[in-house]
Amino acid sequence: MATILLEVATPDKGEVYSKDINMLITRSICGELGILPKHANLLTELIPHAMRIKETGGETKLFISGGFMEVTPEKITILADAAEAPDDIDVERAKSAYKRAEERLAKKDSDLDIDRAEAALARAKARLLVKGVPIP
Ligand code: ATP
Repeated sequence: MATILLEVATPDKGEVYSKDINMLITRSICGELGILPKHANLLTELIPHAMRIKETGGETKLFISGGFMEVTPEKITILADAAEAPDDIDVERAKSAYKRAEERLAKKDSDLDIDRAEAALARAKARLLVKGVPIP
């Protein structure tokens, strides 16, 4: 089966993923994108989500907090604000972040930064999705 190289890096951790894969399902500001080998050149911004990687032997998930993705026919390069494999995700921390953001959004204080709270909620939701933990 044809493959395309996927490289994911973050400013904090450097390279977090580098492997030949069969297909990537990711979420950009324009919606969901399926990337196969020999994809046309593309540069886009990613939003927080549970990224799906199809490779020989099955499918794995990777949390992406947002960032930029460049695609060429041979390679996908993602520079993410943060990226975590399932084993690196602290579930209790994600649950707390989810609860905190939900409470902030429910209280609607006058000084609430709605975009910030919604982004925190989306990050926590995506982390729990990658871990397969039901959203509280
Ligand atoms: P929190 O409010 O718990 O800090 P956050 O969504 O604001 O969550 P980020 O800004 O996305 O956190 O990430 C900051 C750093 O902390 C990154 O290095 C990220 O990998 C790490 N991180 C955040 N939440 C988790 C988690 N639940 N498990 C593992 N690492 C995490």
